Amino acid sequence: MKITDIKTYPLSTKLEQPFAFSQGWVYNRSAVIVEISTDAGITGWGEAFCQGLQPPQIAAAAIESALKPLIIGANPLDTEVLWHKMYHQTRDYGGKGAVMSAISGVDIALWDIAGKHFGVPIAQLLGGMTRTRVQAYATGFYRIKGQGEAPRLAEEAQAHFGRGFRAMKVKLGFGVEDDIVVMKAVRDALAGKAATLMIDTNHAYGVAEAIQLGKGIEQLGVRLRWYEEPVAQEHITGYREVRKALATPIAGGENEYSLFGYRDFLSQEATDIAQPDIGHCGGFTACKHIIALAHAYGVQVNPHVWGSAVQQAASLQLIAAIPVTHHSLFASEPVLEFDQSSHPFRTDLTDLGLTHQDGWVSIPQKPGLGIELDRKVLEKYRV
Ligand code: CA
Repeated sequence: MKITDIKTYPLSTKLEQPFAFSQGWVYNRSAVIVEISTDAGITGWGEAFCQGLQPPQIAAAAIESALKPLIIGANPLDTEVLWHKMYHQTRDYGGKGAVMSAISGVDIALWDIAGKHFGVPIAQLLGGMTRTRVQAYATGFYRIKGQGEAPRLAEEAQAHFGRGFRAMKVKLGFGVEDDIVVMKAVRDALAGKAATLMIDTNHAYGVAEAIQLGKGIEQLGVRLRWYEEPVAQEHITGYREVRKALATPIAGGENEYSLFGYRDFLSQEATDIAQPDIGHCGGFTACKHIIALAHAYGVQVNPHVWGSAVQQAASLQLIAAIPVTHHSLFASEPVLEFDQSSHPFRTDLTDLGLTHQDGWVSIPQKPGLGIELDRKVLEKYRV
């Protein structure tokens, strides 16, 4: 089998209701969808992740200009061989950021082809399904004003619980004082309900404020499952300081890339939970490397998921295959990030239609990623 063509679809659309996270206002949702064709008639789909502030054209250009010429004519089943070929060719100007998103999008499409070729879901090729369903947690609590929104966010917590979510992640990083007011309101709104909370500041603070916030929440009597991105990803010693100062588990890694980036993050004991994003860190191939390394350091892997439906499908296959790090009868299992922000094309792009039943999502069992794309939707939102 040979790769005959690679197409990129940079997608973007304006949001009716722009929202803020700690790093800025999000006005558009974007994605880069990758389509790889073969001479066997099998088509693979992938996605290069675009976070809220990232233009989709960067990763699309990297695929078109740098990666496509490298892999046209190659055997798409050579996933490891092609990953290294793409990485080695771009390492001197890539290694992190949008070039790695580009490699991720291509790699996911290659694994989709492999799954379809062998007639099995990708998780089977990764070694099998440790789980066939995963608990979802609601990611929401975005801001429409900025500060002073605690009452509205408390209502949002009740609404997520009412929809069946038993775990949810609160966006913080709008000033330590405001953050603590929010957490107090969310705690009170969920009083007496069995709900698990996480927080995410998207690296809004330096070490001292990050510790102040963590201690402030511990003093509220809220036992967080994790505290995500307390400081900037480059500040690995800062991660370690925050981790040492708090009893709360620290999570991070959505902005880290490949085996090499994770080596530094893990070997310096920066985190309790590693959060590779499959559309960002280097695709399934890089995730395999990262998972093995994280387990060697006794660190749990819980993927970050904020992309469109293609990336959601890829993340479900990955999550299915992740072994438990600390084995016990009641071991901590990975949970699925279920983004509650508006995303106009995510729901229409594929036939996946991510849904949950009482807060649990089933892992698709069809070959490859297990999805069909709607080409009309691709064209409608194409940049
Ligand atoms: Ca995050």
